Amino acid sequence: MSDFRLGDVIDDHCIKCRRVTNHSIVSLLTGQPAKVRCRTCYHDHDYRHEQAPPSKKDLKKAELFNEVLAAAAVPEAPPVVAAAEPEEKPKKGKARGKKA
Ligand SMILES: [Zn+2]
Repeated sequence: MSDFRLGDVIDDHCIKCRRVTNHSIVSLLTGQPAKVRCRTCYHDHDYRHEQAPPSKKDLKKAELFNEVLAAAAVPEAPPVVAAAEPEEKPKKGKARGKKA
């Protein structure tokens, strides 16, 4: 159900409150909320689907994270596969070939 109407109260992330708060829909676009107004601080802004806009800090963090990932991905290829393979045990079962 995406039956939004003007004045409906929906959750969205408010950049002023820096958290998800109740918002009233003040503008609709093709049945979707386009603009909303925070009911806590009355700040109007585009509806952002409850997503917090990435801060510069977050962007920097993501950048660093990707760098770390890229750096870690290359040397991370030790022969783990060999250890995971089931070891063949040739001496078992028919090993008691010599009858006394
Ligand atoms: Zn707010």
